Amino acid sequence: MAQLVNYIYIVSAALFILSLKWMNSPATARRGVFAGETGMLMAIVGTLLAHEVFNWHWVFAAFLIGTAVGIPIAYIMPMTAVPQRTAMSHACGALAAALVGTAEFYREPDQPVYVLVALLVETLLGYLTFTGSLMAMGKLQEVLPQRPITYRNQNVINVGLLAVAVGLGVRLVAVPTDTWIFPIFAGLALIFGVLLIIPIGGADMPTVISLLNSYAGLSACAMGFVLDNKLLVIAGALDGSSGLILSIIMCKAMNRSFTNVLFGAFGQIQVTEGVVEQRPVRSASAEEAASILEAASSVIIIPGYGLAVAQAQHKIRELFDALTRRGVDVKFAIHPVAGRMPGHMNVLLAEADIPYDKLWEMDAINSEFAQCDVALVIGANDVTNPAARNNKASPIYGMPILDVDKARSVMVIKRSMRPGFAGIDNDLYYLEKTLMLFGDAKSFVSDILKEMPAPAAKA
Ligand code: NAP
Repeated sequence: MAQLVNYIYIVSAALFILSLKWMNSPATARRGVFAGETGMLMAIVGTLLAHEVFNWHWVFAAFLIGTAVGIPIAYIMPMTAVPQRTAMSHACGALAAALVGTAEFYREPDQPVYVLVALLVETLLGYLTFTGSLMAMGKLQEVLPQRPITYRNQNVINVGLLAVAVGLGVRLVAVPTDTWIFPIFAGLALIFGVLLIIPIGGADMPTVISLLNSYAGLSACAMGFVLDNKLLVIAGALDGSSGLILSIIMCKAMNRSFTNVLFGAFGQIQVTEGVVEQRPVRSASAEEAASILEAASSVIIIPGYGLAVAQAQHKIRELFDALTRRGVDVKFAIHPVAGRMPGHMNVLLAEADIPYDKLWEMDAINSEFAQCDVALVIGANDVTNPAARNNKASPIYGMPILDVDKARSVMVIKRSMRPGFAGIDNDLYYLEKTLMLFGDAKSFVSDILKEMPAPAAKA
């Protein structure tokens, strides 16, 4: 049996690795999800085969409760709430790891030193990720204030608290029978998770969630050492490293450093600079927009968070079809942090079956804007703001952007002059060549389509 379980674990680990690889491209992402699910199912079956199960009732009860909660969440949660949902998953995963560690500690406190160290790392990371993820979820769902909550000597207090927790952990390793220390250790980890996240602004939450994902993975990896389960070590390490890589990608795409995300209190700018300057802009109707688009030979569509809010992806597909039928070359420009999670736009456009080869990454498309007749921005804002290139005083200065302002003409669909996620005004809207198309993305694109009747069929 042990041999069979080993084979199951090897296949399962291979499926996890392939899953991450396949999820790198929209073309293979579904296969990636399926591989990950199959790998997880095999891991569970292998683990149940490997251990004597004392009480199947508990296993089935947990399975039923998990399924009963998980399936409705998958259907109820809108795409725009994916970051919150992800934070909730991390909170549950981390709590599970921390509780397993706690149970192991009380079951057998007198363990070899390396197991005790792994157990304490597991519980420390597990508990702090649990409360940290709940805070992140609360901020994104706006049940907690999005602005950074700061106070005097915050960093000193936070580091001091962590140092005390680590000190107690060292004491537990030296004298494991001092079990009364454990609840204090766990309590400090829970408090540290809260204190770590409250000074971070809502705008940085997606990056923080990805970092918390990494902590939850490392906690699971440490749990693998505690339970002597190699698959858990592999899966936890994959989770930990991929979360870290994703956070680094997001930081680079926003030109921010980790220190700046964790200690920069970035979201404050939403409060201080949210006031929009009164400058004249030019606006146009759906009819005018339709005729400009029909006259163009090349159009680049720039989707952003507003597209997700409006759920306009299917209408955009219709617009893509209508323009392509008229011989217009249409491409989509994807900024790495457009929307609220990396890949947010790719997922939405894939849902509407927009061909993958029409989706261009920022670095590949930026040189094309200068030759493009119309750049059509749909619900994107910060990722098109030329201030990131030109204005040293701007909070987003240095963030790589899509060079939309270099197109021959620009049209922007959004509902108002309100700023985007970073809370700052966008210079793009005030350019001579820019036309504002005020309205909800889905309704405005529908109105444009009404002005573009399908060519009459030949008799
Ligand atoms: P954005 O700057 O947040 O702007 C979205 C725009 O969509 C808003 O200006 C809003 O204007 C408009 N909008 C909202 N609902 C709409 C609707 N129903 N119809 C039409 N327009 C609508 O979005 P973005 O350009 O995609 O930039 C993403 C931002 O998130 C960046 O600041 C990025 O740094 C940040 N971020 C992203 C990630 C990530 O991984 N993707 C991670 C961390 C942070 P109105 O209200 O006027 O309509």
